[in-house]
Amino acid sequence: MSITRAGCAALDSADPLRGFRAEFVLPENVVYMLGNSLGALPRRTIEAVSHTVTAEWGRDLGQSWNTAGWWDLPEVIGDRIGNLIGAGPGTVLTGESTSVSIFKVMSAAVRLRPGRRTVVVESEGFPTDRYAVQGLAAGFDLNVRDFGPEGSLADSLDDDVAVVLLSHVDYRTGALRDMAADTAAAHAAGALVIWDLCHSAGALPVEVGAADFAVGCTYKYLNGGPGAPSYLYCAPAHLAEAEPVLCGWHGHAAPFAFEADYRPATGVRRFGAGTPPILSMSALGASLELWDKVDIRSVRAKSVALTELFIALTEPLGLDLATPRDPAGRGSQISFRHEHGYPIMRALLDHGVHGDFRAPDIMRFGFTPLFLRYVDVYDAADTLAEIIGKGIWQDERYQRRVTVT
Ligand SMILES: *Cc1c(COP(=O)(O)O)cnc(C)c1O
Repeated sequence: MSITRAGCAALDSADPLRGFRAEFVLPENVVYMLGNSLGALPRRTIEAVSHTVTAEWGRDLGQSWNTAGWWDLPEVIGDRIGNLIGAGPGTVLTGESTSVSIFKVMSAAVRLRPGRRTVVVESEGFPTDRYAVQGLAAGFDLNVRDFGPEGSLADSLDDDVAVVLLSHVDYRTGALRDMAADTAAAHAAGALVIWDLCHSAGALPVEVGAADFAVGCTYKYLNGGPGAPSYLYCAPAHLAEAEPVLCGWHGHAAPFAFEADYRPATGVRRFGAGTPPILSMSALGASLELWDKVDIRSVRAKSVALTELFIALTEPLGLDLATPRDPAGRGSQISFRHEHGYPIMRALLDHGVHGDFRAPDIMRFGFTPLFLRYVDVYDAADTLAEIIGKGIWQDERYQRRVTVT
């Protein structure tokens, strides 16, 4: 049975999440399949940020640290993110970039396993995750062990491994790992585990479960805005002993005592370092309001339906699918390997379909069920077929590399 655009429109009419698209500012005639890189702008964010700028900053000035609750925002917003990842109150802190959060939790985790000198990272993991660990390892004389996509995690573990850092969803292929099973494998070897949730929180149900630490960014599926702060999770069992190497006054037990020496705050606040980006926190707080109304299971169900639809519609093109074919094994993206992936994605963008390219050869399409419609997926597949079928991508202007691919 062939899929028609009218059939897709019917699916949109019956979609339980259909009301959420109107919550976002989206340009006309654009199919936005880049929400896995930078989420779209929620309408309410405009109002919220404007209020923070004009009333809180412009009128109440420095008093807003108290009166507008700025001081507590990292924990208040952290608790709201905690709801999306199965983490209890007081275990999640927002602030800084994901790279910095990885450094913080990795350093704290290594200190919780004295005597063990090896950390395991994914060879195909997001580079910044690897770089943060490599920097820490260079400074603290740790061994970094690569764990490849084909190998079994258990084979990379031994009694020298202090910490394992894993991505829940692979940023290139979209492959989804079994968090509970990998966490159990790491623990069986006496290691701690840190999960990177950048491509899963907000895209599918996440349960930190027995994980020791987790980190994630908020500008992808959570739509927090460019440069929105990351979050970190610390399991309750580690909260009293975990001490990050990166210390600052926002993590001090008594920041306004201005003591000469560092003493960690109680609770997850100890992971604080410098002054948080309040304007970005304001934007993030607004976008999280949407999540209070969303059933994440509906998000996952629609994500599976949208990705299945895209695979079915693009099947005649004979592309090399890099994403697991079984929906249970993938996040909310579809990737194809293609030697001309870069110019194809540039041509698509020029025709109103936003996706991206990840070197060396990955064409990546993100599916954000809150605003992406079935008809959008139909149109994207149609445009992709035209660009490949007619060789439109061969135009010289699509070959030029821009800074951000
Ligand atoms: C997007 C992403 C990051 C981003 O790190 P930043 O420090 O926030 O720029 C890190 N890790 C993974 C796996 C990502 O997908």
